[in-house]
Amino acid sequence: MKINKAYKFRLEPNTEQTVILNNLVGSARFVWNQMLVISFEMFANNEFINATNLVNKIIDLKSNPDFNFLKTSSNAVALQQKVRDLASAWSRFFDPKVHARLKENKKKLRKPKFFKLADGSEIQLRPLMPRFKHKSDGCDSIRLVQFDKYCRVEDNRVKLPNGIGLVKFRKSQNIIGTIKNVTISKKSGRWYVSFGCERELAENPRHPAISAIGLDMGISKLLTTSNGEYIKPKNSFKANQLKLARLQRQLIKKVKFSENWKKQNRKIQKLHHHIANIRHDYLHKITTSISKNHAMIACEDLKVANMSKSASGSMEKKGYNVKAKSGLNKSILDQGWVNMLEYKQQWQGGLLVKINPRYTSQTCFNCKHVAKENRQTQSKFECVQCGYVANADVNAARNILAAGHAVLSAEGRCGKGSPVETENL
Ligand SMILES: [Zn+2]
Repeated sequence: MKINKAYKFRLEPNTEQTVILNNLVGSARFVWNQMLVISFEMFANNEFINATNLVNKIIDLKSNPDFNFLKTSSNAVALQQKVRDLASAWSRFFDPKVHARLKENKKKLRKPKFFKLADGSEIQLRPLMPRFKHKSDGCDSIRLVQFDKYCRVEDNRVKLPNGIGLVKFRKSQNIIGTIKNVTISKKSGRWYVSFGCERELAENPRHPAISAIGLDMGISKLLTTSNGEYIKPKNSFKANQLKLARLQRQLIKKVKFSENWKKQNRKIQKLHHHIANIRHDYLHKITTSISKNHAMIACEDLKVANMSKSASGSMEKKGYNVKAKSGLNKSILDQGWVNMLEYKQQWQGGLLVKINPRYTSQTCFNCKHVAKENRQTQSKFECVQCGYVANADVNAARNILAAGHAVLSAEGRCGKGSPVETENL
C-alpha cells in the first residue's frame, strides 16, 4: 500500500534568495490571473477548459513582449503547476456534486460581481468560479514536481532551482519516503517549504491497539469520548477570534488599498495565520493520540450531519444555541480533523467508521429508547423509559460507538483480529 504524506517546515531564505522567491511566486500569481482572464473568455465562448488547453497557452503569455519578465524570473514547472491548479478549480466549478454541497450549506447571498471581457460584454462571476489572486491576500505559493530532477535535500537545507541554491529550513522531524514534489509558500511574510512524499507501507499494517472508541463533537467540549473523557477546545482560540473580528471591523472603516488599509490587512493576515497554526497543531496532537490508542474509531459523518441544518432547526427554541452551533461550523467542521483521523488510522492499520448522526443524542444507550424528552438539558441525559442517567455527550458518544460496531458487523468485518467493544463503560 502506498501512502502520501507532506512534511512542512519553516523556510529561512537569505536576502538574495528571498528576492528570487518573491519573483517566482509573483510571476506564478501573475500567470494565474492572466490565464483566468483567458479562461473567462473561453467560458463565454463555450470553449472547453481543461489543463492541456490552458497549459498550451502559457507559451503565448511568455512570447508577449510586455511580459518579458516571465522569461527571466519565473520557473516553467511552477507556472505549469499553477495553471493546472487553475484547471482543477474550473473542474470543481463544473462538477454538479460540488454545487449540490454548496446548496446544502447555503451561504449568504452576495451582490453579484461581473467581469468585463475584451469585447466589452460582461460575465457574471458565479460561486465556485476561480477568482483573481491578490498580493494583499497574504498567501502565495509555487509547486515544483519532478523533485529529483531540480532539487535535493542536504541535512537541513534544500537545493532549489532558478539560482536560489541551498536554502535553510527548520527541520523539526525526519522526512520519510521519496520526495515527489515540493511546495514553497509565503504566508503573511513567512516562508514555508512542504515536501510531498510517497512511502510504501507493509501490505496490511495491523493496528497495535485493540480498543474501540466513539467520539461526539460539541461546542464547550470539543470532543467527548465513549470512555467519558473530554477534550476541550484550545482556550486561546476564542480570544483570537474576537480579536480578529475587531480588526476586521476596523478594516472596513479604512479606504481600500490605502496605506492604512494595507497595514491593517497585514495584521489580519498575520492573525489568521496564527489562529490556523494553533488550530492545526492542536488538532494534530489530538488526532494522533486518539489514532495511536484505538484500532477502531467511530464518529459522526459530518456530511450527513450538516450541522447548519440542525442549528436553524432549533432557532425558535434558543437563539444562543443557534449562534453556538454556527460557531461550531466555523471552528470545527472546516478543520478537516475527521480527515486527519482517517488517514492516521489508515497508516496505523486501524479503522475510522463514520456513522449517520441521526438520534445519537436522543437515544438511550441503555435501553435504546428514542425520545426528545430524554435530553433534559444541554448536558444531562435521563431516559424517560428506563431511568438511565448520564452526561448527554457521553451518552451520545456511546451510541456512536455502538452504531460503529453495528456498521462493522453488517459489513462482516467483526471477525478475528477486529476491534472489540471496550467494557470500561
Ligand atoms: Zn433507557
